[in-house]
Amino acid sequence: RSDSETSEHRQIETMARAALASRVHPTLATAATAALMRVRRGISEIDHLMGVAAQNPEVCRVFNPDPAALSLGVVCDERFARHLQGIFHMESSRRCEAILSVLQDPAWEGRMVRVAPRPAAPEELAWVHTPDYIARVAATAGHPLTSMDVDTQTTADSYDTARLAVGAVFSLLDAILEDRVKRGFAAVRPPGHHAEPGRGMGFCIFNNVALGARYLQERYGVKRVMVVDIDAHHGNGTQAAFYETDAVLALSIHQFPGFPGTGRLGEVGAGRGEGYTVNVPLHKGHADRDFLCILQFLVRPLARAYQPEVILVPCGFDLWLHDRLAEMRVTAEGYGLIAALLAEIATEVCGGRILFVMEGGYSAEGIRECGMKVMESLCRPSPAVLDRLYRITAENPERLPALNKVIQIHRKYWPILK
Ligand SMILES: [Zn+2]
Repeated sequence: RSDSETSEHRQIETMARAALASRVHPTLATAATAALMRVRRGISEIDHLMGVAAQNPEVCRVFNPDPAALSLGVVCDERFARHLQGIFHMESSRRCEAILSVLQDPAWEGRMVRVAPRPAAPEELAWVHTPDYIARVAATAGHPLTSMDVDTQTTADSYDTARLAVGAVFSLLDAILEDRVKRGFAAVRPPGHHAEPGRGMGFCIFNNVALGARYLQERYGVKRVMVVDIDAHHGNGTQAAFYETDAVLALSIHQFPGFPGTGRLGEVGAGRGEGYTVNVPLHKGHADRDFLCILQFLVRPLARAYQPEVILVPCGFDLWLHDRLAEMRVTAEGYGLIAALLAEIATEVCGGRILFVMEGGYSAEGIRECGMKVMESLCRPSPAVLDRLYRITAENPERLPALNKVIQIHRKYWPILK
């Protein structure tokens, strides 16, 4: 390139940055983005700029040059390390650091949009949690160590960190509902799916995903949310929050018997919510193909019948075959396939709107490997992943006995299940 071209590109880049940063002149910002695209090859930081552009809803709506490339929003924040800082705990800051280490790879530049989390307000926590419980957690702020129960502790910054984890889910849902991104991945801690309205347990303080579902109802008037919990443990907190409503279809696939002891087949919801809680208890040792079959032959038809507007996925990485707290046999590739299939179901039923929220998983290696595969699939699954997925799901393999039992129980609520 000639010197004059280079200098022209620099000038356009400077102008575009200013226009995008100001966020007050959508037409100008759109024109600047278009100019950037025309000189794309001349500008080294185009991916970064496109990321900035994608965070500007006006620009994004009018001009989105490659929607697939900008379709994943991710929250991962150093502040999540402040919960349980300085004490030994399985639910440690290394879990979020594992995801941060994946994102530090330059290969991720421009492939996803980092979304900044904001803390949830106490009034928002009250959508799911009781005032007494919120006050109990708030009172732990500043105290070096408080035990909520035998597994679940707080340190000085846990209250603020737990509110940030909830708010991270809200921030990503805003990005999804405002069409800034299509899919989301929230690498947050503390986890949330064991937290019930009146108590924290199982390392969980506030129920991030349940509050996310309530946020969708309150902020966006969403009528139907589907929760597909793929943590190795039963999502008892989410089940408790929505047991008597049909506004959330709460499904959990988990090892049983196991912690926390709930999640039996017969727990199907009550009152208006009867049939809207679906439990898939599994013995230990299930592997990639088993989970894909459950998604294909149970979750997909339920999603078709229920027609959710958004799908939320409490995503534990403790199905991983070497996890220390569970005994399932899912590989990192399996996590990639699971995420690709769930994303495809979301594309079919709800315009692709799906948010994964990290729950358990107690090996930094497992979180790193599985988290990378999940984010890759949410970003844009590779042709090899899609090919494997289609081959597995097209086979109509012999059904798992556990899956047949679930279908027997839920057929009366969901005639689509055969
Ligand atoms: Zn778990």
